[in-house]
Amino acid sequence: MSDEAETATDSAGGECDPRWGLCVCPGCPLLGTLGRGGEWVCFCHFDADWGARDFVTAVIRRHFAVYRAVLDVRRGFVSERWPQAYREAQQRLIESGYADLLPDARDVSPYRPGHPIVQQWLARLERFLRDAVRAALRERMADAAANSSIAKRPPPSSRDCVARMRATLAPLAHRAPSAKWAFDLLDGIAARPANAPSPEAVRIALDAISSPAGRAYIANATDEQRGRWRAALGIIGGGAAGLIPSRVPGEDDEPVEVGVQHDPV
Ligand SMILES: [Zn+2]
Repeated sequence: MSDEAETATDSAGGECDPRWGLCVCPGCPLLGTLGRGGEWVCFCHFDADWGARDFVTAVIRRHFAVYRAVLDVRRGFVSERWPQAYREAQQRLIESGYADLLPDARDVSPYRPGHPIVQQWLARLERFLRDAVRAALRERMADAAANSSIAKRPPPSSRDCVARMRATLAPLAHRAPSAKWAFDLLDGIAARPANAPSPEAVRIALDAISSPAGRAYIANATDEQRGRWRAALGIIGGGAAGLIPSRVPGEDDEPVEVGVQHDPV
C-alpha cells in the first residue's frame, strides 16, 4: 500500500522489523519520537488516552497527505532525495486539499526572508495532526456523554410522568362521582314504562345505583323521588326494587335526619 510506512533499514543496511522506529500503537504511521511507559509513541499518541489509541490512529490515517509530509520531512530532509520528496509532499498536500499546509511565509525565519525553515513547517504539519486528533477526541467524549445521559433518562412511565399525571388528575379527585344519570334513567322508565332501555343499560344503571355514589344520591333524595325510582325498578323486575330503600341509613349512606318515617321495602 502506498500509505504504508516504508520498510526501515537498520544502521547496517539490513532488513528489520517493518515497524522499526514507528509509533508502538498498532497501525500508526507516525514515527515513535516520544517515550511513554517504556515505549516509543508519536506526538499524537503521546498524551492521548490509551483506550482511544485505535481511534487516534484512525484520525491520523484520515490525513494521509499530511502524515506523509511529516514522515518525508522527518526522514528525508537531510538526505539527497529530499528535493524530490519535498516537491512530492507539496504536490500531495495540494491534491488532497491541504494547500494551507504548504510551506509559506509563516515558516520563514525573520533572519532569512524567502527561505522557509523546514523544522518550522514540520511543526505546523504536526500541530495540524495533533489538533485534528484532539478535536476528534473531544467530539467523541461529547458523544459518549450525550449517549450516557440518554441512557440515564428514565422511561416514560417513571416518576416525572406519574407526578404529571397526578397533577392533572388532582382536581378531579375532589369531585364526588355522581350517579345522577342512573336515576335519570329510572325517571325515564317510570315516565314511559313501555320504552324500557336495553338490558345492558339497565345493568350498568343498577351497578351505579348500588355503588356508594348511588347510595349517597338515594340518601339525599325525597320520598317522592324514591317512590318513582322504586316503581321504575319494579318495572325492570327481579329484586331491583330493593336497591331503593326508604330512609334507612346504610353503612355507606350519608347521615340522614332522625325521626323520618321508615317505609318497609
Ligand atoms: Zn502514534
